Amino acid sequence: MSSIKKAFLKNGLLAKHLPDFVPRHEQVAMAQAVQSAIDSHTDLIVEAGTGVGKTFAYLLPVLSSLAQNKSDGYFKKVVISTGTKALQEQLFYKDLPRLMPLFPEGITMAMLKGRNNYLCIHKFEQFEHTRGTLDAQQLNELVALKQWSVQTDTGDFAEIEQQKGDNSLQQSFTARQEYCSGKACADFERCYLKKARDKAQQADIVIVNHHLYFADIQVKQAGFSSVVDSMDLVVFDEAHQLPNVAQHAFSESISSWHMMYFGQSLLDFSQLLSADTRQLFAAANTLRLQSVELRAYFPAQGDNGLWQDEPLLSSAIDALTNLGSTLAQLKEILLLLRELNDDVAPFLSILEQLELNVGLFLTKPRKGVFSWFQCTKNHVVLRQTPLDIAHLFNDWLANIQTTNVFTSATLSVENNLNYFTRLLGLKDAKELVLNSPFDFQQQSLLYVPRHIPAIEDDRRAQAIAALLLEMTNETLGGCLALFTSYKMLYRVAEILDEQGAGFLIQGQQSKQDILTAFRQKQESILLATASFWEGVDIRGDALSCVMIDKLPFTSPADPKLQGQLLFAQSTQDNIFESLQLPQAVMALKQGAGRLIRHELDRGLLIVCDDRLVTKPYGQSFLASLPNMRRTRCLDKAKQFISRVDVKEKDIEPISN
Ligand code: SF4
Repeated sequence: MSSIKKAFLKNGLLAKHLPDFVPRHEQVAMAQAVQSAIDSHTDLIVEAGTGVGKTFAYLLPVLSSLAQNKSDGYFKKVVISTGTKALQEQLFYKDLPRLMPLFPEGITMAMLKGRNNYLCIHKFEQFEHTRGTLDAQQLNELVALKQWSVQTDTGDFAEIEQQKGDNSLQQSFTARQEYCSGKACADFERCYLKKARDKAQQADIVIVNHHLYFADIQVKQAGFSSVVDSMDLVVFDEAHQLPNVAQHAFSESISSWHMMYFGQSLLDFSQLLSADTRQLFAAANTLRLQSVELRAYFPAQGDNGLWQDEPLLSSAIDALTNLGSTLAQLKEILLLLRELNDDVAPFLSILEQLELNVGLFLTKPRKGVFSWFQCTKNHVVLRQTPLDIAHLFNDWLANIQTTNVFTSATLSVENNLNYFTRLLGLKDAKELVLNSPFDFQQQSLLYVPRHIPAIEDDRRAQAIAALLLEMTNETLGGCLALFTSYKMLYRVAEILDEQGAGFLIQGQQSKQDILTAFRQKQESILLATASFWEGVDIRGDALSCVMIDKLPFTSPADPKLQGQLLFAQSTQDNIFESLQLPQAVMALKQGAGRLIRHELDRGLLIVCDDRLVTKPYGQSFLASLPNMRRTRCLDKAKQFISRVDVKEKDIEPISN
């Protein structure tokens, strides 16, 4: 029997040291597969349903392999890349410290955060010299930052947030890319970002998130240590997010906010120079103003779209051409000033990159790439995004030559991993699908109401609000209502409000604060969308019902989908089958996955969308969800949620 298998037994290593450890054969299967992937340098994809214990199932073989290699004198390194900063912290502060004591001392770990988490000492000290008008509160914040900056070893803003709460000034001094000259910076050796990356490069295990993983290449180009380059093994947890993050990472973009910020940085810089900088000041100011104005050439309503509308295109192109001319003028000025001041070089390299990117949007996009825009109230980002990232990701992996483990609770469609492997071009990876060990037949019920009006019917919100109230009246537990659009979310909130019903709603506090209030049962209804479809882990009867307003198909207005549809016209691809349906199935699995988080949980899943049972493609959703009992009868659903157990024979088969 392998040592990994033994460790997960009833009387094995984990049971001896972790009082709450429960052996699960799915966890052993995953741990053995990860061990085998490490030993054979083979990529592995594992879908591990809720409750499998996937984190320990990969951490144990990783630590065991590191310990073995250290004793044999080998030098192996591991990156663990996960979805969010919160999950990074969970791994770094909770999961790894529980397992590390089971192995010989000497394994080191580091957590790397995004650039905006670190103080840019260069910018901060420059600001101190040129300090403009600050109000009393900002002056206090500046003093607090100064005191902290001379004590800190890490430059990680989390330290000052813990000590003194939010500091609004800190945003002005983050180590963000738009200002940073990397190796050319006069303070490079003192740079906290550099120190953090150097430390990460020395560690055996580095915890990053997916965005940082892909940003590694840019950071490396600026002269900082690469983390990914020097690694042997990468574990991608929450790997279902990878295709989106990779598509974003392989895109080119320009942002009006970044250009405005760059213009402002040049204005600040011009005040530091002893030379005549009137020309620099004027051109930097023009760049700042033109960047702000760029937003006006994009629709006031709606936040994103494909860049193919003719009138919009021509006016935006004129604005971009003007921006390009200003950048060219600034370049000439900076080239002259470079002779007088070493600090000019970094601005020049940023400017050259901006010029290149603006140029991209003034020419026809490359084949297989589509242009689109994303607007906020005051700014716009233009992107050129590749439609197919499979070959790009494949080339990337071939280049860095790591062994890769991809895992998540949501990777398969109808127990098949083809969709995920196709998106990322993973041809030779071993595959494993492990269902949740929970007893979904006993613990859960899927209810598809008959009485909710169709998607386009105005009375729909009223019916959803009424159903929510009806269900929360039946249970002491809470109900999480997940919406696919803000419009429906706010409409239902309005109706509940009119009826005097209490509820929590996404956006009224931070996500963590809202979830804490919901866990504490301050209100029994939580209305949410977007980020609440995943990463919400509420156990026990604080959550006894998850309601989903409709099948989560991507909106037809989504520019990335529109780009795919345009491309599909030339390739004759069936985008619904190959993209829209699997995307929606994965999203529904994520949302439904909020319901049963523990073997003692019981919960009702309501999907207010008839298409689940009336359309042929509904089968794909049903076959991908855990094996729940199903009903279309309101009374049966109410009985179940009120904890009167519904016997198997009482559950009518789901039908039209
Ligand atoms: S290298 Fe970049 S982030 Fe670091 S201190 Fe210099 S400008 Fe700031």
